[in-house]
Amino acid sequence: MIIFGTKGYLYTLAMITLVCGRCGNPAAHSLKKRVTKFSLFFVPLFPINTKYVTQCTFCGAAQQLSKEQAEQLQASAQQPHQQPQYGQPAVHDHQHPTA
Ligand SMILES: [Zn+2]
Repeated sequence: MIIFGTKGYLYTLAMITLVCGRCGNPAAHSLKKRVTKFSLFFVPLFPINTKYVTQCTFCGAAQQLSKEQAEQLQASAQQPHQQPQYGQPAVHDHQHPTA
């Protein structure tokens, strides 16, 4: 008797601050890679499917990404100077009227 099946693996690649499409909050999103592997006699042999998703840590909404989108996000997450700055005003209004 041959026992075969699939086994799923979930990897967290990065944490990225994104504006969520569902709740609208600029929340931390986890970038995850889900790999499905073909297994034979409970031994995983080779990946048959790879999916990338982002998940909002605020509301839990998950969104599927293409490999290209996921790689772009991961690359941008590794450049901290391009991260949004918290505690900074979103609107830069330097034209304060002086009386
Ligand atoms: Zn959300």
